[in-house]
Amino acid sequence: MHYFDPHIHVASRTTDELAAMARLGCVVLGEPAFWMGYDRSSTGSFRDYFRQLTEWEPRRAANYGIRHYAWIGINAKEAEDVAFAREVIAMLPEFLDRPNVLGIGEIGLHKCTRNEVATLEALIELAMQRDEQLLFHTPHLEDKYKGTRMILDLLRADHRVDRSRVCIDHCEEHTIRLALDEGYWAGITLYPVTKATPERAIDMIETYGPERILVNSSADWGPSDPLAVPQFMYLMHRRGHAESLVRRIVYDNPLQFFNQSRNFQFPPAE
Ligand SMILES: [Zn+2]
Repeated sequence: MHYFDPHIHVASRTTDELAAMARLGCVVLGEPAFWMGYDRSSTGSFRDYFRQLTEWEPRRAANYGIRHYAWIGINAKEAEDVAFAREVIAMLPEFLDRPNVLGIGEIGLHKCTRNEVATLEALIELAMQRDEQLLFHTPHLEDKYKGTRMILDLLRADHRVDRSRVCIDHCEEHTIRLALDEGYWAGITLYPVTKATPERAIDMIETYGPERILVNSSADWGPSDPLAVPQFMYLMHRRGHAESLVRRIVYDNPLQFFNQSRNFQFPPAE
């Protein structure tokens, strides 16, 4: 079965892993801009990173028949210096029109500080002015509920936001209802240790149904599994779920969500 991994940081994964993903059916991946494990020292580092996500990584994925799409933004960990973040945000429009860019992401909150909120408001403003899709990172563990609530309150206060074009990612059992009930897409990240395991993701789908749910590996430079989505598919089958339900979660849903981006075209026209 073909599948999408709608959130994976392949810039920090090997070509062997891209090949393994392709063998297991990956046809499209989404790569949001994020924190590389260290704070960048200049806006030039961001420019090079955005070039990597829009020029080099699409070619690397294409070698294995995978279509690569990117989200461009500044992550919460590097959003604390508001003046620096504004310089990065000023650079975003030149990348948002590139042919593989889906929208602004992953953006959000980390420690939920006032400065993080100020940067996030500037990013949402840019998205509204340009009619961009949005992908939100929600904080880890103990900050997750508070951060998710704060993000949803910010969005609720802006009447321009089309909730069907926004994904709230890294949802867990205590936050997924908040996103779904308010009409957003909910991403579930399949991680070996933190966030949600494939088994917990299946429990959530059995509880809430498949509508507006995406599953992803969010695989990056830390402990994570680039084959987490096929592992989820295998476990869905093992639990006796119908082929059509598995396909809905890993293919139909991300296709529907990505299709709302003006730069997304799949299957490709060629
Ligand atoms: Zn991520």
